[in-house]
Amino acid sequence: MSAALMESRNNRLQGDSCDRDWIWEREIETASADDAFRLAASAWERQFRRLRESSAFYARKFREAGLGSSFVGLADLARIPFTTKDELRQAIDQDPPFGSNLCVEPNLVKRIYQTSGTTGSPNVLALTRGDMESWTVMGTRTYYATGIHEHSGVLSTFGAGPFVAGHTHFAILRIGARSVPVAPGDTERVVFGLRMGLADTLLATASFAQYLANRLEQSDEQPSAIPLTHVVTGGEPGGGIPAIRDHIQDVLGVTVTEVMGIGDVAPSLFGECPHQQGMHFCGMGHVWPELVDPQTGELMEIETGAVGELVYTALTREAMPVVRFRSADIVRIEGTSCDCERTTFRMRCIGRRDDMFKVRGVNVYPTAVLAVVGEFRPRVTGRARVIRPNGDVSVTPPVPIEVEVPASSASDAKLAAEIAEAIHTRLVFRSQITLVPEVEFGESGYKTRLTVNRS
Ligand SMILES: [Zn+2]
Repeated sequence: MSAALMESRNNRLQGDSCDRDWIWEREIETASADDAFRLAASAWERQFRRLRESSAFYARKFREAGLGSSFVGLADLARIPFTTKDELRQAIDQDPPFGSNLCVEPNLVKRIYQTSGTTGSPNVLALTRGDMESWTVMGTRTYYATGIHEHSGVLSTFGAGPFVAGHTHFAILRIGARSVPVAPGDTERVVFGLRMGLADTLLATASFAQYLANRLEQSDEQPSAIPLTHVVTGGEPGGGIPAIRDHIQDVLGVTVTEVMGIGDVAPSLFGECPHQQGMHFCGMGHVWPELVDPQTGELMEIETGAVGELVYTALTREAMPVVRFRSADIVRIEGTSCDCERTTFRMRCIGRRDDMFKVRGVNVYPTAVLAVVGEFRPRVTGRARVIRPNGDVSVTPPVPIEVEVPASSASDAKLAAEIAEAIHTRLVFRSQITLVPEVEFGESGYKTRLTVNRS
């Protein structure tokens, strides 16, 4: 095999010998930073006008920010204040069901999702046909980037609704892959579908993929013999944490890639390519991302190594566009180029801003705890959560941590002490480890709450 061919093989999943381009929209996904900016800036010009004319919510927000009648270009976006989740919730409460930020006639709303209500009560997300299309475009780039091609068979555990992850089905359809939809949490059908070889790719939360690997490890002599080659995790961090990723890959004999999005903006915005070096931004032309300091809100450069909160502006969204929306997702920028030739930045999510806790003034994200706990497999399952007494962000050590364990480890007297010691060595704080048997820890088909407030 020639060197060039070898190189191009690495841009695909192992065993994929198809000759289609491995980039869905090459011109856009490999554009220079200048070209990407120009594309976004012209979309923003139209969006800004639309917001002034059609969004009572943003017309007022712009007025209150003293923007007058002047146009604010994309380069000056920081002059516009942030939008928070709370404000969006209030906008809905003011004028239900769609709120004061609905920019179209209600009869143009053709699809409605609901938010998961991870924090607070559920909200509705309204889409026009145009919005459905732009979500599909971004989703298709995202899933194609992970290595899902026309010849793939995709078993998805993301339900069609009520959550935005259901929109994934449109992206899989657009790619032209085979689709095998299964309801979330229906482990029996997932196992059946995979054993029968109905699909070579699994879409699941990291929690579920982990659970599946643990389960097949126990029930099967050789779980890697199941004809599954690719697991795409989404909905929560985990697929990017080495201890978790390695475990799923080793047990199931697969490649793990991650995807990420956010309900209020787009369900699929980032997809990791087979080089496995973080998730590429895939929202070009439709969403403008910024990175800010989570504490001060100050703008940060999107450069390798930067850690900050993602802020999004919807450039083409018609029904419920957001401007400078604080995502609360804290990410680390892994790079701004890639061997796959995509020019969009790559990142890993290290947690939600509201999952963060402080130990003696130092910020800690629970994903750091997961990375340590995961190394104790198979004595642990890989799931854990931090308990914040009284909901306080500052936790006085020892930090209470619950670690999920298989029934066989529930009475492993040394395990808790060993984990506490490893956390002390690696994360430099003392912890109080409680081992919680699998049956008591809670549902693994969905996302796992990483921080829990308890009084
Ligand atoms: Zn790449």
